[in-house]
Amino acid sequence: MASAHVFSRGGAERVRVDHGRGAELVDVEGRRYLDAAGGAVVVGIGHGVTEVVEVAAAQASRVAYVHGSAFSSEVLEEYADALGPLLPLENPRIYPVSGGSEAVESALKMARAYHLARGEDRDVVIGRHGSYHGNTRGALSVSGRQGLRQPYLPWLTGVAHTSTPYEYRCPFPEAHPDGCARRHAEALEAEIQGLGPARVAAFVAEPISGAGLGACVPPDDYWPAIAEVCARHGVLVVADEVMTGFGRTGAWFGGDHFGLRPDLLVAGKGTASGYWPLGLAVASGAVHDTLREGGFVHGFTYSHHVVGAATGLAVLRVLQREGLVEASARQGERLHAALRRELADVRVVGDVRGRGLLQAVELVADPATREPFERSERVTERVLEACREQGVLVYPGTGCADGRRGDLLLLGPPLVVTDDEVDRIAAGVAQGLRDVLGGVGAGG
Ligand code: PLP
Repeated sequence: MASAHVFSRGGAERVRVDHGRGAELVDVEGRRYLDAAGGAVVVGIGHGVTEVVEVAAAQASRVAYVHGSAFSSEVLEEYADALGPLLPLENPRIYPVSGGSEAVESALKMARAYHLARGEDRDVVIGRHGSYHGNTRGALSVSGRQGLRQPYLPWLTGVAHTSTPYEYRCPFPEAHPDGCARRHAEALEAEIQGLGPARVAAFVAEPISGAGLGACVPPDDYWPAIAEVCARHGVLVVADEVMTGFGRTGAWFGGDHFGLRPDLLVAGKGTASGYWPLGLAVASGAVHDTLREGGFVHGFTYSHHVVGAATGLAVLRVLQREGLVEASARQGERLHAALRRELADVRVVGDVRGRGLLQAVELVADPATREPFERSERVTERVLEACREQGVLVYPGTGCADGRRGDLLLLGPPLVVTDDEVDRIAAGVAQGLRDVLGGVGAGG
């Protein structure tokens, strides 16, 4: 019997997990699952890596907690020094927190405080339609997912939203594909001009869209054009790498594919691979120095956590030693090809997209017109369950097409996923789709 005292997530009663190894999870009844989304695209180094657990336990035995304003620690400094050269910012300074939303909140405050320290009262942040940056108020404000924002709209202030590259449903069809990056840059420029450039503190975006729109890779000329607009108006670029960071897309950071050098960067998820709730807000040296001069006041009880730093460092060492960023690029290509092959005869598959081991399948009622399913058909939810029946766990997404409609399966397995597991993931997803979509007009 499930406890009556857990405020559980979602309505359905969940099977209890027992243990995990690599890309596999086993429940208390002995059923095995391929964790094809690493939970919520979190687990990079795989489940059950005991060396990371041992490092965390050893650190907790020595000292588990000190307040970040009272003490630094050797392990935190070692972690920052090891990570620094991999981060795509000039002279980066890391501010460790407890997750992605906290990291976003921290970066938003850093952006405003940076301008205040320079004597500029900039009060608006620009996000993008369809984006996801977290569920706390600031992070939800800058997010663009209508369904999540709607109930809290009166609380979501100080933001504006601009267009997002979504190649399958490009908002600028007349300019697509060669001219749409320019159109996105013009849209951002117009938004900044409309608000008044002196009011815009930052532009916040995922270098490759994650959960909201489903692994949308922008055109190569998108980020250079966007960065140029921001630089011209003194608008800080905040790269949200919570989902795309730490090798997920086959590069250390998603922005690396485009030469993006942000002013602020946020990370989470893969940072400690689920072994510790660790997020990072990272400032460039220039932003950091200005914040310091301005007397930036911020902090959480658990920021700069010693066990978090030890765990993050241990995970980083595994990523480096095992070559998992390269593995993500390689296995991502295999997964993409396997999905295309297995799903070729499934009529409702509109698009298969992504980079590295961040891949998405968009399902549509009519592939010719790209018309999405009605939400009432609950296609994503049903396919998710059918994939689970096949022993493959995928991450759902809804609302990509118009804020409400649009069905996505997001795939982001641990970067240690084997060839055989990649093939089984693709086959399981295809079978799950066929099992469900008999009822909604599928071929295949
Ligand atoms: N930013 C992005 C791009 C995310 O994908 C997420 C979570 O899915 C967040 C921020 C929020 O992170 P968290 O759930 O750890 O607060």
